[in-house]
Amino acid sequence: MISVEEALEKVLSYVEVLEPERKPILNCLGQVLAEGVYSTINIPPLDNSAMDGFALRAEDTRGATESSPRYLAVVGEVAAGSLPTNEVRPGTAIRIMTGAPLPEGADAVVRFEDTDETSRKSSKNDLSQIGILCQAKKGLNVRCRGEDIAEGDLVLKKGEVLRPQEIGVLASLGRSAALVIRRPIVAILATGDELIGVDQPLAPGKIHDSNTYTIAAEVSRYGGIPKILGIGRDSVQSLTEKIDEGLDADMLITSGGVSKGDYDIVKDVLAERGEVGFWTVCMKPGKPLAFGVIKKVVGRKKKKVPHLGLPGNPVSSMITFEQFARPAILKMMGKKVLGKPAIQAIIDDDIVNTDGRRLFVRVNVTRRGGQYYASVTGPQGSGILTSMVRANGLAVIPESSHAVKAGDTVEVQMLDWAEEQSQSKTLPIVSIVGKSQSGKTMLMEQLIAEFKKRDCRVAAIKHCHGGMEIDHPGKDSWRYAQAGSDAVCISSPGKLAFIRNLDHDLSAEEILPVLGPEFDLVLVEGFKKSKLPKIEVHRKELGNDLLCSPEELSAVVTDGSLDTLVADTCKLTVFRSSDTVAVADFIEKNFVFKSPSSAC
Ligand code: AMP
Ligand code: MG
Repeated sequence: MISVEEALEKVLSYVEVLEPERKPILNCLGQVLAEGVYSTINIPPLDNSAMDGFALRAEDTRGATESSPRYLAVVGEVAAGSLPTNEVRPGTAIRIMTGAPLPEGADAVVRFEDTDETSRKSSKNDLSQIGILCQAKKGLNVRCRGEDIAEGDLVLKKGEVLRPQEIGVLASLGRSAALVIRRPIVAILATGDELIGVDQPLAPGKIHDSNTYTIAAEVSRYGGIPKILGIGRDSVQSLTEKIDEGLDADMLITSGGVSKGDYDIVKDVLAERGEVGFWTVCMKPGKPLAFGVIKKVVGRKKKKVPHLGLPGNPVSSMITFEQFARPAILKMMGKKVLGKPAIQAIIDDDIVNTDGRRLFVRVNVTRRGGQYYASVTGPQGSGILTSMVRANGLAVIPESSHAVKAGDTVEVQMLDWAEEQSQSKTLPIVSIVGKSQSGKTMLMEQLIAEFKKRDCRVAAIKHCHGGMEIDHPGKDSWRYAQAGSDAVCISSPGKLAFIRNLDHDLSAEEILPVLGPEFDLVLVEGFKKSKLPKIEVHRKELGNDLLCSPEELSAVVTDGSLDTLVADTCKLTVFRSSDTVAVADFIEKNFVFKSPSSAC
């Protein structure tokens, strides 16, 4: 068995940085510049105004204040895109818009807000004069020629990765195309007699090919161009034919057929067509991995196409892609940083590492109080692709570590980063609805207490149709609000309340950002019209019918006769009012992803 590092080193030793191509800048996002970019112009090209206001001579404003304005004669106006026709002589000013060139003679711009223009306009006063209400320094609100980029500057260096801002800079230099390292074409081949295409109906013994799609999406995500070869069958002939179709690519990625089963023949085909490295890598999931080069002849030249044979299990194939294919693609694109971004996080669950391999555990990372926490995303079978859906990172447990305890610090490779992380992982939220007097608040109380016993951080949201109980007339906070404050915070040692005036009734989702991300569960009372998962509290004496239609509900909690209610409401999950533990189990299982780890 070889280590992850040895395997990666071997893979990288077979791939080269690709050649450059010149192409439109809009298609260059994420590519590496293959030339230094020098400017042939100044940006900005002329001194110009950073504000809408009046261009003037700073010395003419000496001593100006609101109570003692300096009056100047307005001798013209200049908008962005045109040139000034007049110059600014002593005692004069020119009305100027943001981005318009600064007139000759002017050395400062005073904003409209710091002049008497508005009051002049409203009192229909003479606009051929302007009162300046503040003293300006030379250079105030003036953007100088070449202050961003000067003619001759090296603006972007060879080797820089083009992000939106670099593409914008290229545009501002007047470049519509750039010389960049080209994107690798990556041929993708799924293998297996059991596989059928996504648009084919399932037949007994068959499964849809998902690896092609995961791998193609990963290739695109990291900047490559996927070339889909389809499904190769478990026969030497079928695989050979398919592989031949992929040999004009820069790299070939197959999935499946690399374990030790009778039909795992990718390695046999490789052995025939090229040089094969077939390894077991000391990692879990993803132990079997094939790597080699396939020889091909182009004209008179012999070429070698690197081939990475990933395991077939969807999670194994994705995790090995991240560890080996991603760095290879990045290297071909000319990138220097090939590793995945990693953080240190406190793990929420115990993890055992039974057979001394490097364990990649799917986790969801959240940030609470300035610290990262990682929770295992439920069952970790290498066929369970939804465990990747719930994950935004991979906790890396070293070979030498046999057990990790909840509370230990672990390294986590981030699959998604920063804004993707906070946007894609919203807080689990469940709404408790029901008719008035049905017992919603009591269920909320019981559930909150139950989840506290389970070590969950719970936030509760109450929707009031009338006013706010906390807004008591006469209290200081009420008086601040009456006086017009848009928001009032009441803070005391250990508590904070926040009251904000709103122009509409917020949805529960709109309230979440106010809570912050540090909760495991948000329980909401009310909001019956929202699209949140809902549990209805039903009370027999208020009638047999429900407030919400059964399709909208996740469950019902009732003190009534279960049978009639079940009959009346299709196949709804129904709980007895007294069974808070079962309701909490249901919420935890369906809405809170904190299941114990069973890494594999
Ligand atoms: P193999 O590595 O070919 O032995 O496959 C291991 C497991 O992964 C088997 O259960 C396969 O059915 C499954 N598998 C292989 N290829 C794919 C694929 N393209 N999409 C989904 N599952 C796959
Ligand atoms: Mg197979």
